Amino acid sequence: MYPVHEVFDSFQGEGAFSGTPAFFIRLFGCPVQCPWCDAAGTWHPKFVPENIWRRSGADLAMLAEESGREYCIITGGEPCIHDLTELCYSLRYISMKSHLETSGAFPIKGEPDWITVSPKWAAKPMPQNLERSNEWKIIVEDEYSIDEWWKVLQPHHTSQPVWLQVEWSQRQNPKVWESIYAWTRRIQNGRVGLQAHKHWGAGQLVDTADARSREPVPLGGDDARGF
Ligand code: SF4
Repeated sequence: MYPVHEVFDSFQGEGAFSGTPAFFIRLFGCPVQCPWCDAAGTWHPKFVPENIWRRSGADLAMLAEESGREYCIITGGEPCIHDLTELCYSLRYISMKSHLETSGAFPIKGEPDWITVSPKWAAKPMPQNLERSNEWKIIVEDEYSIDEWWKVLQPHHTSQPVWLQVEWSQRQNPKVWESIYAWTRRIQNGRVGLQAHKHWGAGQLVDTADARSREPVPLGGDDARGF
């Protein structure tokens, strides 16, 4: 049984599939605990929902099928702290593709159809996850972020798109944007990463399937609350 933070029907706001409608399964729990986490409801005591569902992979696949979407995004939290074999298999059984969003710091158990690795300093990605993944997403926290990350990541890069995505609280920092533009010239398949869902406030606008997902969680972190 998987601990489920929320399920909802929306659209992918990031990466290669940006703009495509999708069904989301957000699993509970994350030991990485980034200071600017935008999914703190999956792990931070102040934002954890009162009622954490537990559902089998087959039950979750049924909800995904009812959504009528072409594919399902498995996210978190850090979904790879769970064994995703049953969930991926259940989605494949109903002919629905599974897309995984992970920090890459934990072994990927299961066979998702698409893997996005977004590395985090608090728990660095495993080389085999970087090499197996379909795209990378670097969160750009300051003007030095990409340089520092690229020293770690470049040895594992083949041809994956590398999305350079500004950390939300830095979105009006010109130095960060200058570094993003500069690095799109240096990295093969380097691209400017956007978060369309945040720009349009989709979390507040889309009528989701899960009332628990309406809990407001501050974007860009909140020092006063310890994350
Ligand atoms: S890895 Fe993702 S879910 Fe976990 S703390 Fe970092 S941003 Fe939040």
